[in-house]
Amino acid sequence: MGLFAALVLTSCNMKEKIDLVVKGGTIYTVDKNFSTCEAVAVNDGIIVAVGSYDSIAQKYDAAKVVDIEGATMYPGFNDAHGHLYMLGLGLKRVDLRAAASFDEILDRLKKRYDESKPMFLSGEGWDQNLWPVKQFPDNKKLSEMFPDIPVMLERVDFHAVIVNDKAIEMLGLKPGDPSIPKGEAIMKDGKFTGVFLEGTGARFYDILPEYDRRYAREVLATAEQECFKYGLTSISSAGDGLTVLEVLDSMYTEGALKLRVDNMMSPTVENFERFSKPYVNGRLRIGTVKLFVDGALGSRGALMLEPYSDMKSTKGLQVTTDEELERVCAWAYEHGFQVATHCIGDAANRIGLGHYTKFLPKGNDRRWRIEHAQILDPADFDTFGEYNIVPSIQPTHATSDMLWAVDRIGARIKTAYAYRQLLDQLGWIPSGTDFPVEAVNPIYTFFAAVYRKNLDFIPEGGFQMENALAKEDALRSMTIWAAKASFEEDAKGSIEPGKYADFTVLDRDIITADERDVPTAKVLKTFVGGEEVYSAK
Ligand SMILES: [Zn+2]
Repeated sequence: MGLFAALVLTSCNMKEKIDLVVKGGTIYTVDKNFSTCEAVAVNDGIIVAVGSYDSIAQKYDAAKVVDIEGATMYPGFNDAHGHLYMLGLGLKRVDLRAAASFDEILDRLKKRYDESKPMFLSGEGWDQNLWPVKQFPDNKKLSEMFPDIPVMLERVDFHAVIVNDKAIEMLGLKPGDPSIPKGEAIMKDGKFTGVFLEGTGARFYDILPEYDRRYAREVLATAEQECFKYGLTSISSAGDGLTVLEVLDSMYTEGALKLRVDNMMSPTVENFERFSKPYVNGRLRIGTVKLFVDGALGSRGALMLEPYSDMKSTKGLQVTTDEELERVCAWAYEHGFQVATHCIGDAANRIGLGHYTKFLPKGNDRRWRIEHAQILDPADFDTFGEYNIVPSIQPTHATSDMLWAVDRIGARIKTAYAYRQLLDQLGWIPSGTDFPVEAVNPIYTFFAAVYRKNLDFIPEGGFQMENALAKEDALRSMTIWAAKASFEEDAKGSIEPGKYADFTVLDRDIITADERDVPTAKVLKTFVGGEEVYSAK
């Protein structure tokens, strides 16, 4: 036997046994050179090789080969700012939208009750204007049908609820109660009808066990499935209390969740006691404290340096005091946590940055984040670069707000949603959606970041295109840069040996596709740690 033959024989015998090879389409690795490859080899949930299919087939003997049949694969998508628990809560409510009568609502509730025998029922979306009698209902039938569990149903505008008698009894409300502002309880013959408006309606949240631990597990599992469906393998979830954090922790200990979750914590005393240093439990990370400086632009709660253009009497609201912001930043700095602060208005951004720079030395690598960084005074951009403060953006906010935001802030719109300018500060930027405020679908993030149009392809030419992101950068923002925002760029965010085998397979190539074809891209498969966690039917 000649030397050549001996070598071939040896290499065949030495083929390494591994779990998985994925091949058969374009694979964007999102490595430094933004290169593509033909195949990926995976073992024990970790990528062991990328390259041509031939080179991988020669070296490895895979227990399973997945052929993506001409589709396109990307590193698993990572939403850098969503709300996992809120997403799950919304999905578990009974959807009452478009119900043509109150009886139809009762039917939908009965169906849900029979399916799962829940401890309570909550629903949203009813609208009496769609019913034969266009009047507020009363709760007589509702109370008869559900005598033992509380039921709360939100109107489509979230400014009215109808509840059953059990809910009223649990809250302890009586007709004539002095705590009910005039007009907020709809009465008939001196009795409650079960319809309550505004603040009085919102009080019924307190009696719904939406944070009961057993229920919380279902909420989180539901939200996880929704993420997988849209190709998300990782998220940063923007702030929760101790119940949610503890339920997450126990679910990860049991292996009951597979999504990689970087869950920020709300600055509560219990959270600080329980998590006094950054914490990792498998796929769960808790290493960031979430703060708020202001509210939202739509309701003029965003804090502006100068009055609103369409309401000169207000500059918006600061929702956390400077003392509290400073106290939490000091705690986080001392305990090694990141801080992530919600800042929408230009004044809010200045305040958030101002508190950070009191603690952060120039050129630090603490990766403290400004969430949204939505409207900035031109003078404040450079602070991000100088202090390595991470702007965490939501490209769909730009396209959701663009048609009315200019009315609110006038010429200040020029330095709002300024994603390209913000990217230039650090040379990287994470993106997310703020789901359930926006849709979960990360394709919309990519589309909004690149084309700066809404899903109706408006405006023609795009909104303030000087702040669009390049396609490659938009993809990085939802993969490797989102990972970097939670200090996880060495473990995930690109398809490279040594990293988690987290992949998203789409039915098309969003980098080369025609603009018109981008928003309708569909997820075919989602892999986390080499395991297929979603497959389109
Ligand atoms: Zn948020």
